[in-house]
Amino acid sequence: MNDLLEFLWDCIKGLFRGIFWLGTLLFEFLPWLWNGSEEDDATWEGRFIRLLMTLAGGVLIGCCLCLLNWAAQPKLSVLEKIDAIQVSFDRLAINRKTLINDLKQHPLEKRVEVPSHLRKRFLILTDDQLNKIDAAYLAEIKKLEVGLQNAKYRKRAEGIASRIQSVMERKPSGTVYLLDTDEFQAFCLSGGSIMITKGLMDQLSDDDELAFVIGHEYAHFLCRHTGESITKGMIAQEFGETFFFEEKPENAGNSLKASFAKLGYHYGVLIGVLLPYSRTMEYEADRLGVLLMKRAGFNVQGSFKAMERIAAMDQDSSAVSHFLSTHPKGEKRLDEIREAAALLETSDTPVWGSKLTVATESVKVAAIKKWLAAREKKAVPPAEENTMNQTDKLKEKLMNTKNAAADTADKLKEKLMNTKNADTDAAEDSDRQKQK
Ligand SMILES: [Zn+2]
Repeated sequence: MNDLLEFLWDCIKGLFRGIFWLGTLLFEFLPWLWNGSEEDDATWEGRFIRLLMTLAGGVLIGCCLCLLNWAAQPKLSVLEKIDAIQVSFDRLAINRKTLINDLKQHPLEKRVEVPSHLRKRFLILTDDQLNKIDAAYLAEIKKLEVGLQNAKYRKRAEGIASRIQSVMERKPSGTVYLLDTDEFQAFCLSGGSIMITKGLMDQLSDDDELAFVIGHEYAHFLCRHTGESITKGMIAQEFGETFFFEEKPENAGNSLKASFAKLGYHYGVLIGVLLPYSRTMEYEADRLGVLLMKRAGFNVQGSFKAMERIAAMDQDSSAVSHFLSTHPKGEKRLDEIREAAALLETSDTPVWGSKLTVATESVKVAAIKKWLAAREKKAVPPAEENTMNQTDKLKEKLMNTKNAAADTADKLKEKLMNTKNADTDAAEDSDRQKQK
């Protein structure tokens, strides 16, 4: 209670002190502005100069405050800046509707196999379109000027990358980019350009460890995972729009649409290229990464050591790190890598998929074939022709009715005439009888 009273008393004292100081300042300042310091410069020129001095002083203090504020603001890290890059698909003339329609027309042609995994998945973007996305993305990264120019780092990374490239059946078109940051990150663009941070290279001082990370990134390229991720996003959006927005008129323009848009469901306009890979893709990249590093002559033990480090870093993962955040848990990945390495001991060209994968794939293909057959069966003549037919039929029907009506009218007329004639005959008969 005493503490509270003391605190209140301090507040009141502070308030009065503030008012007192402000009053004193104004009391001193206003006479100075009007009369000058010696009370002998009470001319208009003197007052004007003193006013200008006051304003200049105010502007200077304001600028200093702004500068301090700017300096105190949190700076974006290199990875955060890269993560914020967005590439407009519309500007690259990549249209989702066209791609989805193409997929609907030729679904089986769009199923592509992942190397060594028996897994097939849809891929609707062409290599040409993916290259366009890569180029736009790289142009944005270059604008950031975050590249590392150190020759020693470059030689080490490029040396390992070229050894791994030499055992790849499909060669990447991109190069190795080094990023000047102590953060731990590596990622791959669809055309095979890989990016590695200085921090990652420092942490993985052993070449065998770095070879695993580079192999893992090139595996993403070989499996075309970026294209798969974008395809999945586009199909998901199409699905969302068809079932939630367009097909049901009651859903038009409701808040559901807005919340989907907020969730980043709308790919058409803007899309980040760094889409998180799925767990399935990460395991595929890990296994294929081990295979590539082994074929290139690196020690497979390096992959275990690298993954142990990554697992240890899992605890304090940064939000954007490709290797940590979107990935499965490090320990689980370590188990999978050990399994892959064990399989590599027995076979040089292992197949990681199971019989189940093959069975699932054949079920999927059968379902698509069935759907295609049903679609062909259902195929009807174009709507325009249909309408024409219907109009013709209606016209014909109308004509028939008209003719029938005319016939009936004629018959009635005839009947009427007959009756009339009969009547006249009868009348004449009666007249004759009268005359008689
Ligand atoms: Zn990965």
